[in-house]
Amino acid sequence: MTKYVFVTGGVVSSLGKGIAAASLAAILESRGLKVTLLKLDPYINVDPGTMSPFQHGEVFVTEDGAETDLDLGHYERFISTKMRKANNFTTGQIYESVIRKERRGEYLGKTVQVIPHITNEIQAFVERGAQSATSGEPDVAIVEIGGTVGDIESLPFLEAARQMSLRMGRHHCCFVHLTLVPYIHTAGELKTKPTQHSVQKLREIGILPHALLCRADRPIPDDERAKISMFSNIPNDAVISVWDVDSIYKIPQMLHDQGLDSIIVDELKLTNAAPADLSMWSSLVERLEHPTSEVTIGMVGKYVDLTESYKSLIEALRHASIHTGTKVNIEYIDSEVIESDGPASLAHLDAVLVPGGFGRRGTEGKIAAIRYARESSIPYLGICLGMQLAVIEFARDVAGLAGANSTEFDAETQHPVVALITEWFDREGKVEKRTETSDLGGTMRLGSQRCPVKPGTKAASIYGVDVNERHRHRYEVNNRFVPQLEAGGMVISARTPTEDLPEMMELREDVHPWFVGVQFHPEFTSTPRDGHPLFKAYVEAAREYKATRKHARVPQVSGV
Ligand code: GLN
Repeated sequence: MTKYVFVTGGVVSSLGKGIAAASLAAILESRGLKVTLLKLDPYINVDPGTMSPFQHGEVFVTEDGAETDLDLGHYERFISTKMRKANNFTTGQIYESVIRKERRGEYLGKTVQVIPHITNEIQAFVERGAQSATSGEPDVAIVEIGGTVGDIESLPFLEAARQMSLRMGRHHCCFVHLTLVPYIHTAGELKTKPTQHSVQKLREIGILPHALLCRADRPIPDDERAKISMFSNIPNDAVISVWDVDSIYKIPQMLHDQGLDSIIVDELKLTNAAPADLSMWSSLVERLEHPTSEVTIGMVGKYVDLTESYKSLIEALRHASIHTGTKVNIEYIDSEVIESDGPASLAHLDAVLVPGGFGRRGTEGKIAAIRYARESSIPYLGICLGMQLAVIEFARDVAGLAGANSTEFDAETQHPVVALITEWFDREGKVEKRTETSDLGGTMRLGSQRCPVKPGTKAASIYGVDVNERHRHRYEVNNRFVPQLEAGGMVISARTPTEDLPEMMELREDVHPWFVGVQFHPEFTSTPRDGHPLFKAYVEAAREYKATRKHARVPQVSGV
């Protein structure tokens, strides 16, 4: 029977609740338990797919094609269970489901209310999510409740958790609360009062946490921990100090050293738990801290997207760093600055990366960066939009298709080398007008798809016989133009088996030493345990380029 750990947050958001929950899961997994994680989001959007990345950060995509909260990415990086659509749900989904039932008459004429109908629905979703785990019925499901205690919108979730723990009885559910202990510089002191208040707020609604995770910029001394314990009625050894560290992969060890997993194992009577073995995590951290070489990669994107939108990508580069023994510095380059100043600022880079993205803004700057990488033989990796723009650049400059574009940015282009499939051909050989769709959440190619790789290509040397990666995009490289592109030295190195859509492109080695574009998002499947073959190959190419760059041809730099 699955037991539940609810993780709540207090004082402020952005304290790393997702990473704390995932780290606890990693320790429990190392103790031989089957673990899964769930994220409950109190906002009303049905999913984050239509939210601006500036509002929400990265949209993480699961194997089964759900657009979810970025915390699910942390979960997959910390434990081996794969997340599915049911592992993340929102207030919007709960209400949608309850309202549908109400319309079908399933409540038999009763007045439908937050308690019990919404809270029952939340409990049903929690249990369904826990049981959807790919590795079979889990011993423990860790349920992270989004938002901060005291928010109006997270109340039904906390109430549902409280009811669930009452219904299931003792030793079936427990609560971990994450708070902030700020250091006040002018007083030279760590302050415990916000934590005291936050725990009081939880107790008011009937929840007494079994452990407190106290975030601070430094370790919390025993005196302060004792004070928190006394005022919040939580045993001293369950007041755990979580200080700032330079790598998130140090957190499992930090929590284990202070006994968090034992508190949970004892409370939930998980009698089949083995001793923890965190050697994999310590060896990762060891390798991360002792690189043998160093490269600088330029990530070119829209200024607003460059902050929280590329969590998985940045982690994937970090994993490649661990597994290649290379320190990877990431330089964030605003594509609009390249549009105004030209690509000269890229000259010192060891590799260029254009990640996924939406909308026209900044695309010409990204294309200029890609051209610079192609002409200077700098290793290039294009992900999703980054592949589409590489195709556009090549079409314009090598294949002689002047004005080539994606219909996403220019619906009237003469050469729609990237377009919706419905726009590829029309009767006169011209682009069909795009019809706006009303349901933005439902028009993308989403989730995992397996496809064969063309033998003898760079893609084959990286992936072997096939790729199985996740997608999140609408537009496709237009097969109509592929013969002209391939004549110039581009190779479509992987295609989907049924629709024959280009999945990977590269430049022939006689044209460029390392230039790869992928229509999918490889960053979603990279884990710190194994790294990812594509990112490892890319970082190795950057290292090689750096070693030989004094011989590389550096072209004349021109503006856009
Ligand atoms: N905007 C492009 C598309 O929709 C690329 C999407 C992406 O990079 N995720 O096809």
